[in-house]
Amino acid sequence: MDFQVSARKWRPQKFSELIGQEHIVRTLTNAIELDRVSHAYLFSGTRGVGKTTTARILAKAINCEKGPSPEPCDQCDFCEEIKSGNCIDVREIDGASNNSVAEARELIETIQYAASASRYKVYIIDEVHMLSKSAFNALLKTLEEPPPKVVFLFATTELSKIPETILSRCQCFEFKPLSHKQIVKQLELICGQEGIQADGLSLEEIAKTGAGSMRDAQSLLDQVIAYCGKKMESGSVEEVLGIVGKQTLAEFVEHLRKRDSASLMASVQEIAADGKDLNFFCCDLAEYLRNILMVKLSDKPETLLDTQVCNLEVLQDQAEAFHVDELQQMFTVLARTESEMKRSSLAQIIFEMSILRLADIRPFQHIDDMIKTINTLEAGTFPLAGEAGPMVSPVKSSNIPEATTVTAEPAAAPAKQSSSPGPDWGRIQQEICARKSIFNMYLSQCRVIAFDESNLSLSFQDANTLGLVQDPENLQLVKDAVKSVCNREVTVKLLLNEKAGAGTASAYSGNPANNEEKKKIKSYNENRQKTEAEIIQDALDVFGGIVLR
Ligand SMILES: [Zn+2]
Repeated sequence: MDFQVSARKWRPQKFSELIGQEHIVRTLTNAIELDRVSHAYLFSGTRGVGKTTTARILAKAINCEKGPSPEPCDQCDFCEEIKSGNCIDVREIDGASNNSVAEARELIETIQYAASASRYKVYIIDEVHMLSKSAFNALLKTLEEPPPKVVFLFATTELSKIPETILSRCQCFEFKPLSHKQIVKQLELICGQEGIQADGLSLEEIAKTGAGSMRDAQSLLDQVIAYCGKKMESGSVEEVLGIVGKQTLAEFVEHLRKRDSASLMASVQEIAADGKDLNFFCCDLAEYLRNILMVKLSDKPETLLDTQVCNLEVLQDQAEAFHVDELQQMFTVLARTESEMKRSSLAQIIFEMSILRLADIRPFQHIDDMIKTINTLEAGTFPLAGEAGPMVSPVKSSNIPEATTVTAEPAAAPAKQSSSPGPDWGRIQQEICARKSIFNMYLSQCRVIAFDESNLSLSFQDANTLGLVQDPENLQLVKDAVKSVCNREVTVKLLLNEKAGAGTASAYSGNPANNEEKKKIKSYNENRQKTEAEIIQDALDVFGGIVLR
């Protein structure tokens, strides 16, 4: 028994059998019926969507003994000859291997002779974009003054590579990629005829991997049948095609939801070790996030999703955990990753890095909120982190009255008892940063030199940070924090570059009397341009977030 691959065995032989290109079939059959067949057609579109098949059917339809008719009989000698590729008046040329000018000239020579027996001489040139420039030029003359009863049928997957001069002399048709549904339907038909048992999910997975190409899907089907035999199950299909199953995908998104980077990395490595295609997985993940988004946006998500493939309940549950912003940002990252992976030999690492990025994505802050934050910071007032209590109205920094400063505890008379600085300093730091988040950065640059009942001495590594903390408003903030935590008033002293206990550097204090030193620092700050990195860091401190690129 001769085995014939599905793509050939099930190749449509009539226009009525062609799937998914109704707009083209209609135009062509009308042209035949009205005897207005053009002398040159150009069929463009992705591979395996029926371009060459359509060309052959058209060749049959115009040469059929019982025609020309909108549908070839598919039985007469001409139809049979064309079907088997033996018709001398219908030549099929592969543009990729016959692309020289000599071959184009030879072809044009033969065009001059009339068709031997058929009505029309038909030249089907596949992958026509591969022709050389001079071959195109030779062809152009013939297209300008075509001999009677000659029809050129060009097919290409890359329309953009066809010269304008050729395009303008052809009727151009764009073939659409086939939908999953159309492909699944055809695969079902083939399986039915071949006596293969297949569940819906496995056919769906094959169709998806075929990415709109019927020929690819049929080749994949052959591959799966060779592996599974007469009974096809989604598990084995996933193995053959190297795709990740729905269950694994859902679990992966669970890790993402928990922002569990370690488990995410472990999953990626497991998927890769199983021999699955990370590129497919990247696309599947993007589609999965898209499905979650549909669930979030729509009251009737089942109308927007293929419920045979998605588990709606799981999606609905996961949708709760993600913000629309996050899903869109994640999608953008994955879309970029997908194309980067294709071009790189470091595909797995690129994918891992992107997944870590996904785990770090947070919802965008609303621009109005940001502006409010900036204004609040500039005005020198600060809401207590996470507290819904009354906001302090913006007051100029220089004269904050005691009463308006926010303290966690009511101010009490300064207590005289001493307490150890260690653990208190941690709480004071927290208190300070909660009041003004930029202190996270300031305090990372400083050390406590002394902390007793009436004095707090901080040493800074650079004059810039020191100058910023030197601001009376900031000094007051530190004092208030100490008061709030330890319930005592202290004088805050700031020192520059002070080695522990060395006492060599000059001491700065919050005392306004020390004007000379203040001026020095101020002019240092004003004269110093911030580096880009510092500006970015400032922005991060104000808005939070991470640097993506
Ligand atoms: Zn016929």
